[in-house]
Amino acid sequence: MKLASSIRTIPDFPKPGIIFRDITTLLGDAQAFTLAVDELVGAFTGVDIDKVACIEARGFILGGAVAHILGAGVVPLRKKGKLPHDRIQSAYQLEYGMDIIEMHSDAIESGERVLLIDDLIATGGTAIAGIDLLRRGGAQIVGAAFVIDLPDLGGSKRVEAEGVKVVSLVSFD
Ligand code: AMP
Repeated sequence: MKLASSIRTIPDFPKPGIIFRDITTLLGDAQAFTLAVDELVGAFTGVDIDKVACIEARGFILGGAVAHILGAGVVPLRKKGKLPHDRIQSAYQLEYGMDIIEMHSDAIESGERVLLIDDLIATGGTAIAGIDLLRRGGAQIVGAAFVIDLPDLGGSKRVEAEGVKVVSLVSFD
């Protein structure tokens, strides 16, 4: 089973020039989904993890499954305006636009060991905004894990430069 072949590629979505890597086909394939979650978890074998922080929306699907296997809690990092309680926010640039993510101010207890999960890392802007929120919330970040890396966009290097270990399962040029 090769994970890469379970990911669908859509040219020019959501705008011309973007090659969108669509993981809905991976999620819909039981074998591929199980393999992806097991590989994400396997990369952190033996590491103590209190919480999995996951980025809206596709990160939620992967992060929930990973947290369940790890016996960890889940912290949703959400688009602006979705979280109901006191929150902190961080702005970031997407491969295709600007956005803000938020986290509940009380989502992390000081010193908790947190793994960040999303479906894909491109420029790293989203992940770095997530790392910023988690650190401001008091987290110790044990790693950031993605199904897909687009290494040409430099995001994984930027996250590693923040002192965070990066794991990815599939790379696309
Ligand atoms: P970035 O902040 O540039 O690392 O972008 C990562 C975020 O944007 C992730 O939450 C992805 O789901 C989404 N994203 C960025 N580029 C793509 C792409 N080419 N295909 C699918 N999702 C993408």
